[in-house]
Amino acid sequence: MFTLTPVKLELDRVAGHFFGEFLWEDSWEGQWHRHYYGLHSEPVCWTQIGYACGYTSAFMGRQILYKETECTGMGNNNCRIVGKPIEEWPDAAEHAKYFSPESIVEQLIDLQTEVVQLRSTIGDRDQQRDDIRGVSPGFTAAFELLKQAAGSNITVLLLGETGVGKEVFARSLHDMGPRRDDPFVAVNCAAIPHDLVESELFGVEKGAFTGAQQTRPGRFERANGGTLFLDEIGDLPLAAQAKLLRVLQDGEVERLGDHKSRKINVRLVAATNAGLQNLVREGRFRSDLYYRLNAYQVRYRHCASASRTFRCWRNISWPSARPSTARNCAVSRIKPSAPYWHTCPGNIRNQNMVERGVILAPNSGQVEVNHLFLAHCDSSDQPREFNLA
Ligand SMILES: [Zn+2]
Repeated sequence: MFTLTPVKLELDRVAGHFFGEFLWEDSWEGQWHRHYYGLHSEPVCWTQIGYACGYTSAFMGRQILYKETECTGMGNNNCRIVGKPIEEWPDAAEHAKYFSPESIVEQLIDLQTEVVQLRSTIGDRDQQRDDIRGVSPGFTAAFELLKQAAGSNITVLLLGETGVGKEVFARSLHDMGPRRDDPFVAVNCAAIPHDLVESELFGVEKGAFTGAQQTRPGRFERANGGTLFLDEIGDLPLAAQAKLLRVLQDGEVERLGDHKSRKINVRLVAATNAGLQNLVREGRFRSDLYYRLNAYQVRYRHCASASRTFRCWRNISWPSARPSTARNCAVSRIKPSAPYWHTCPGNIRNQNMVERGVILAPNSGQVEVNHLFLAHCDSSDQPREFNLA
C-alpha cells in the first residue's frame, strides 16, 4: 500500500507511552484518490490510517490515533502520519466517537419506537379522539371503556387484531389521564429480537453481556411517571415474562448486570391479538402474568384497519358520508359491535375484578355484576351481548 519509513518511534507498552511518525511513500490510496477525484483539501488515506490506528491500538492496549499531517491526495509529495494516544490530541473528543462501536440494532429499535410514537401523535389528538367516537358502535364502546379507566392506574389489556391501531388507543388512554404530560413509551415486543428484549425493557449496564457496549436505561425507566405501552405482548419470551411480572409486583426495575433496584412509577398498557389465553393454555404465556395484565380488558374488532379508519373519518362526517366514501377506506368493513360479558371460569384475581368494577360503576351508583365481568372473558365462551348504556 506504500513504502514505509519510520521517522520517529517511541514506545513503552508497560508505561502506555507511544509516539510514532512515519513517512508513506507511493501511497496507493492517496494516488488513486488523486487520480479519480483530483486534489482534496483534507488527507484522504482513510483505509490505511484505519489500519494503523487499529493495529497500534491493539498492540499498545490503548487507543492510539494517527493523523496524516501530509498527504499525496492534498498535493504533498508523500504522506506523513503521526500517532499518539488519543487523549493527547487536543481534539480528542471529536475523534473518540469513531472508536466506540455503535449498535445498529439498538439504533433500529430506537427508530422503530419513535415511529410508533410519532404515528400515535399524528394530527390533533383531541380531533383524533372525536374521530374514534361515531366510527362504529364497537369503537365507541371500546373508547368509553378506555375513558373510564383513564383516570386510574389500572393495567389495561387491549385486545384486537394486528394492525387495528392499538397504539392510537393506548395513546388516547394516556392523553386522557393525569399522566398526559409525562412520557408515553411504546414498545412492540414482536419487533425486538428475543435476546435483546430484556435489556430493552429493563435496561442494561455496560458489559452485562457480550455486545452490551454501553449502559442504557430500559423502557420502564424511560416511561417513569407516564405510560408504557407493550404491543404484541404475546410475543414476549418466557424469561422476559417472568421478569416483567416481578417488575409489576415490586414496582422496581433492575437493569441487566446491575444489582441496584430502581423504583418506577409506570402505568402499563398491554396489547395483543386475542389469542393470549390460548398461549396460556399452550404454556407459552405465564398465567400469573396474564391475570395481572388482564385487570381491565378492552376488546375491539370488526375493523380491517383502525388507523386507516381514523384518518378517513377525520375528514368526513358521520353518518352522511358513510355509504359513498366508506368503500375507499375500509370503513365499510366495520360492523357494529358491543362489549360482551359472560360467566367467568372463576380464576380471575378478585382484586382486578373489584378494581374494574369500581372504575366502571357510575359515580353515585352501585357496582353491578356487569361492572365486574364486563368484557373480561375470552370470546371462546358463548358470549351474551351486554348493552353498555
Ligand atoms: Zn495520504
